[in-house]
Amino acid sequence: MNDQLTIALSKGRIYKDTLPLLEAAGIEPLEDPSKSRKLIIPTKQDNVRLLIVRATDAPTYVAHGAADIGVAGKDVLMEAPSDNLFELLDLHIAKCKLMVAGPENEKPHGHRLKIATKYIKSAQAYYAEKGEQVDLIKLYGSMEIAPLIDLADRIVDLVDTGNTLRANGLVPMEHIADISSRLIVNQHAYKTKFDQINNIIQQFKTVIEKENA
Ligand code: AMP
Repeated sequence: MNDQLTIALSKGRIYKDTLPLLEAAGIEPLEDPSKSRKLIIPTKQDNVRLLIVRATDAPTYVAHGAADIGVAGKDVLMEAPSDNLFELLDLHIAKCKLMVAGPENEKPHGHRLKIATKYIKSAQAYYAEKGEQVDLIKLYGSMEIAPLIDLADRIVDLVDTGNTLRANGLVPMEHIADISSRLIVNQHAYKTKFDQINNIIQQFKTVIEKENA
């Protein structure tokens, strides 16, 4: 007998890229979250359901055991508390880079750098490691605006194609981390539902290894 298993993931890019992995593990959602307003999606396996959550909330659901496993970007995991969670697998999906970016023709700074970012913890760790004192300004989105209107000198943001930076006259300057989505598992569930979760991990691994060979 399999236990009830709850999987937390966000819709959009993560859902789209996780779907083939879920299907390889025999988990087929009965509704498409991009078309349905339902946030709890049953699957063809009676005992497996998906929770459609905000990307930044996935670690919280899993840490509290409201979901047994989940999918979260490394960028999100670097900002979230890691208690009660195992990060077990790099899914090699939703890849991008966390970078420092700034204006193309940057003027010399006569002051401590002001950095606007959503990724405060990651930026703090990066500049602490470099031994550079900076002032961090928390924003929740549209970071690219900050250097254009002198709210900040530079930004720390996710970069994929670089189109968003370019469109705003910014250039990537320093690489902080490679980002991809990870499979996270509630530590207690990993013990009590080991066979079921391990089976999913093995199925995911088969697809990931094939696609990244
Ligand atoms: P791009 O213009 O392709 O460099 O994409 C940059 C924007 O897309 C960033 O501002 C991010 O907010 C978002 N983005 C790119 N890749 C990812 C990803 N893997 N996960 C989440 N957001 C992303």
